[in-house]
Amino acid sequence: MAQSDVLEQRADDESDKACNQGETPRTIHFDVFTLFPPMFLGALSESILARAQEKGILQVTLHDIRDYATDRHHTCDGYPYGGGGGMVMRPEPVFRAVESVLSRPSGWRLPEEANDCQLPPWNRDEPTILRQPVPIVLLTPQGRRFNQEVAAQLSRQRRVALVCGRYEGVDERIRTQLISDELSIGDFVLSGGEIAAMAVIDAVTRTLPGVLGDESGAYNDSFSDGLSGLLEGPQYTRPNAFRGEAVPEVLASGHHARVERWRREQSLLRTLKRRPDLLLRATESGQLTLEDRQFLSSQGWQAPTDPEGLFLS
Ligand code: SAM
Repeated sequence: MAQSDVLEQRADDESDKACNQGETPRTIHFDVFTLFPPMFLGALSESILARAQEKGILQVTLHDIRDYATDRHHTCDGYPYGGGGGMVMRPEPVFRAVESVLSRPSGWRLPEEANDCQLPPWNRDEPTILRQPVPIVLLTPQGRRFNQEVAAQLSRQRRVALVCGRYEGVDERIRTQLISDELSIGDFVLSGGEIAAMAVIDAVTRTLPGVLGDESGAYNDSFSDGLSGLLEGPQYTRPNAFRGEAVPEVLASGHHARVERWRREQSLLRTLKRRPDLLLRATESGQLTLEDRQFLSSQGWQAPTDPEGLFLS
């Protein structure tokens, strides 16, 4: 089974379990493994992520990989075999950090005063048995693309480990023996996985029930199920007129059904102009109504056909 399938399967199992137990509030715990824990403090101490932690929906434990390097200088990098520029993250500190943490209950962290002699015992040659399967995600530009669907899958997990690379990346044995999934936030190269990890934490957290004040907020965001995976249309607030541009009349009409239809059409139109690929996906998954398709056709959209020339509904 591919890594992403394992994640999806686990997510479905978790979700089924949650449904069987009734309306149990969903919570998530992230263990983040990084060489730069302070980078996360700003992002976690403001706004939605701060409130999610106050409500007990989100928990994040930051682990400094350097604490698990046992040489005098706490070295976490090494020269690449075969030569070439840059450095590569060494396997031992990363394996030791991840296995020590994930074999203990969530929330555990190395005591601050711990020195090398107080590190928990760890077997360098044998994998540590974890308490329960936890997705161990490497942030890497080579991973599968992180998007709203992956965020929704991850949000059904109780505990997720995020491993942030640095330098030229991580020793390949980390990928082959420790990591269960690899995620990229786009086709560009960052200096480290921390910003990518923060993006994942933020996007996953806002999908959890109880995190946003207005429950329909995340459900009606771009790419979400409430919008059939399409882009959200334009939004307005007061004043009604600004620099010669007025709010569309229908929005102030108080006519709920007309407002809803206008919003749907704007969402379709915006997606047609900016991300026609999303319309194709929505069509293939049967998320466009006849009315949607008629509207799109009136705007010049050509409905995709299947190989036998039949209309995809
Ligand atoms: N040499 C690597 C390559 O070409 O694939 C890039 C290494 S990058 C300078 C250092 C680290 O930043 C990576 O190990 C990864 O953790 C993180 N990173 C960089 N770009 C990323 C992206 N688009 N998505 C997720 N993580 C990224």
